[in-house]
Amino acid sequence: MAKQIQAIRGMNDCLPTQSPLWQKVESTIKQVVSAYGYSEVRMPIVESTHLFSRAIGEVTDVVEKEMYTFDDRNGDSLTLRPEGTAGCVRAGIQNGLLYNQEQRLWYTGPMFRHERPQKGRYRQFHQFGVEVFGLNGPDVDAELIMMTARMWRELGIDKHVRLELNSIGSLEDRANYREALIAFLEQHIDILDEDCKRRMHTNPLRVLDTKNAAIQEVLVDAPKLSDYLGEESKQHFAGLCELLDAAGIEYQVNERLVRGLDYYNRTVFEWITESLGAQGTVCGGGRYDGLVEQLGGKATPAVGFAMGLERLVLMMETLELTDVRRPVDVYMVTAGEGTMMAGMKLAEKLREDVPGLRVMSHFGGGNFKKQFKRADNVGAAVALVLGENEIAENTVVVKDLRGGEQTTMAQDDVAAKLAELI
Ligand code: ATP
Ligand code: MG
Repeated sequence: MAKQIQAIRGMNDCLPTQSPLWQKVESTIKQVVSAYGYSEVRMPIVESTHLFSRAIGEVTDVVEKEMYTFDDRNGDSLTLRPEGTAGCVRAGIQNGLLYNQEQRLWYTGPMFRHERPQKGRYRQFHQFGVEVFGLNGPDVDAELIMMTARMWRELGIDKHVRLELNSIGSLEDRANYREALIAFLEQHIDILDEDCKRRMHTNPLRVLDTKNAAIQEVLVDAPKLSDYLGEESKQHFAGLCELLDAAGIEYQVNERLVRGLDYYNRTVFEWITESLGAQGTVCGGGRYDGLVEQLGGKATPAVGFAMGLERLVLMMETLELTDVRRPVDVYMVTAGEGTMMAGMKLAEKLREDVPGLRVMSHFGGGNFKKQFKRADNVGAAVALVLGENEIAENTVVVKDLRGGEQTTMAQDDVAAKLAELI
């Protein structure tokens, strides 16, 4: 036999046994965003490398070491998108969607990051993201958080996630803070690891979310970003907290929360779960009022979030919320001369008469026993049996595969009976 070819490490197939849960997660989330009046946007998976280095920031983990970048046949540097916001902003500017306009958008699809694969962390993963342009907030910031809270409730995982919130102020606020933080870090240079030392001058705020416990301990005494926030940023954050309180949404202010991408300002938030181990952030977002201008558009306020679908699906599995509708309702069993065609015809008629009913026909022959076994394997609730007698009498046998009873009825009546399955 020829040597088998394997999928790329960290890039997974979604198998038929897994896809019903994925579909449930995706359709639930899509229903929620449409309940808020948001519209879908679809962007290419590949973009110019510049787009990401300019938007996300040269000295972020993503740009420094996680991007899938290659030269195409023309020698242009392209990158498989590591996230959706940069492409969404690019698309908005290029198509004139942002100029003096308001947009409330969502997207979903695969993202690519060259990270060490482990549970909840993959090289191809899927995000669902929302981006809003043209609104200053904090009202819309609160709406985005309320929207995510609604998603968790509808998925049944709301008791297992918590919200962390912070304001990282304006660019100026952060520039002032940066100096104070660098001065503090310089005093503790001997305990900083290599990563933090390098970050200290390029992106010192990232030192704040180091995973190194010894450094974390020292950071307890570091200057606080909240002491450097300007009046407007403070008011914006207070306004957001008030709206969330009024909406009954619980949160913890985490002064260390800075997020990994450079474009954020003011509001940042993360939804975190304890049920997935180290990969606990299921959703992250925030405001990025400077990004549209930075990418060549007219200054436009913006806010958004992205969630990792693999992590949500894993959570649903961990919490055993896997009760999804099986893909087949009715299995058509036939045996005898002329019954196969009659069975296919009856199946077609049922698909027409009972919208939403999923009917699978048996192919490949075999006795009743074999066919009923197939029906069980695909999870059908009912088997319809057509033999020569039934065809002669225009009837069909309806066998309840869960309860076991079986009745014979006129073919014309069977649609009404099966409609109960929907
Ligand atoms: P982390 O700290 O876990 O690396 P991040 O800050 O890099 O996350 P974002 O860029 O904010 O993540 O992406 C939003 C969400 O996308 C994350 O909260 C997570 O749920 C998901 N995500 C990010 N990277 C991966 C990955 N490699 N595999 C699976 N999901 C991911
Ligand atoms: Mg990351």
